[in-house]
Amino acid sequence: MPPIPGSGLAKGLAVTLRTMTKKTVTAQYPDTQPELPPRSRGVIGLFEENCTVCMLCARECPDWCIYIDSHKETSPPAAPGGRERSRNVLDRFAIDFSLCMYCGICIEVCPFDALFWSPEFEYAETDIHELTHERDKLREWMWTVPEPPALDPAAEEPKEIAAARKAADKLAAQRAKEQQEQQQQEKEQQEQQGEKGGNP
Ligand code: SF4
Ligand code: SF4
Repeated sequence: MPPIPGSGLAKGLAVTLRTMTKKTVTAQYPDTQPELPPRSRGVIGLFEENCTVCMLCARECPDWCIYIDSHKETSPPAAPGGRERSRNVLDRFAIDFSLCMYCGICIEVCPFDALFWSPEFEYAETDIHELTHERDKLREWMWTVPEPPALDPAAEEPKEIAAARKAADKLAAQRAKEQQEQQQQEKEQQEQQGEKGGNP
């Protein structure tokens, strides 16, 4: 049977009318910012203080887009007759985000918690070279990394926190003892001065 003239138009208008009354599911980015999950893979932040230049991330990166340069520095022995100690000092740490495939392997393999995901994604560039983020920029991303989820209330206290608490308690006890001794000394001095004043 041949289609009724104008039936396609009527169907189209019916769809238009139906969807007009429904809530829109599209977001008008960039006027409306998307609501991303906090652990979205946007960009990688570097916490430089934790990096020991072990090179594990650069070696494991499937795209070879992590560039690390370093040099060795030696420090004198802690005690006479001891051995000199050497450590790696970071000269360059860069990630080329034009090559990165956001697999997260570098973050997973870092044994010292120096790399983190940030949900920031607005770093498009018109020049591809600008997508290689050097250490300063990677550090800036660090401040956009969300806090880790809270621990389970029933979980055991992390060893680092327990050690820090113990050290803080010890320091507070030592300070309190010193303060007490000082007060005692001041009291004794005052008493001595009082005795001298009473016996000319
Ligand atoms: S996320 Fe994957 S591809 Fe990107 S730098 Fe890390 S290891 Fe390389
Ligand atoms: S794996 Fe971690 S500690 Fe090792 S070089 Fe990479 S960021 Fe630094």
